[in-house]
Amino acid sequence: MKYFILTDLEGTAGVYRWSQIGGEGANLEEYKLAKIWMTKEVNACVEGIIEKDKDAEIVVWDGHGPGGIEIEYLHPEAKLIPRGDIRCPYTLDEGYDAVIMIAQHSMAGTPKGNLCHTYSSRYIYRYWLNGREIGEIGLRAYVAGYFNIPVILVTGDDAACKEAESFIPHVETVCVKRAIHHQLVFTLHPEKARKLIKEGTKKAIEKIGEIKPIKINPPYIFKAQFLSSTTTYHFTYSYPNIKKIDEYTIEIKGDDLLETVKIFA
Ligand SMILES: [Zn+2]
Repeated sequence: MKYFILTDLEGTAGVYRWSQIGGEGANLEEYKLAKIWMTKEVNACVEGIIEKDKDAEIVVWDGHGPGGIEIEYLHPEAKLIPRGDIRCPYTLDEGYDAVIMIAQHSMAGTPKGNLCHTYSSRYIYRYWLNGREIGEIGLRAYVAGYFNIPVILVTGDDAACKEAESFIPHVETVCVKRAIHHQLVFTLHPEKARKLIKEGTKKAIEKIGEIKPIKINPPYIFKAQFLSSTTTYHFTYSYPNIKKIDEYTIEIKGDDLLETVKIFA
């Protein structure tokens, strides 16, 4: 079978504050260590897949803005799509049997969500799809669902796991840390987290078939709220099908999910 592992960095055991995740204000030493821990979490998942399915084809997409994978530490059986100019649906297509999300975070504004945000915290405030607030986990699960692929496993803090369960019935989750607040957690030791991720992966693979691809009926109404009216201007100026609701809010409607959300996902 063919697996797509979509990674982030914020939801890694041992990672809990902004200085660890790269980008502006990062501590490069802390960031490098965080990437190594995350890569090893991916490896635990890859090991779990191979134990269940020795002929598995495994593609890993590094989905963290400044990058979350240290390739020299990555499991040799995984094929990597490193950071680069990639757009939704990130090469996903009907050929995959399952999507797995590693090291995820909850959506912006989640109470006690460790490092919670929705896509770029520099310019996005909140997203809604058909009236329901949505973050990266939910939106990407719908994109996978568009290609009839189920999301079978999500790992991250307790808030990310809860969010995944609220969007994806029966999804397997592995909680590697519990948020105390936005930038503090009770974290598992990275080795313990990897052990649980490997076990969770095997359980998730046993549930393929039981976990359905998630779908939502058209028409689609996608709404975004930005932190700056400049962003609103940029989107409404560049895309004639995007409607301005107010200085900070835009809306786009469509009958095809991917066409409606792809520039935001
Ligand atoms: Zn990220």
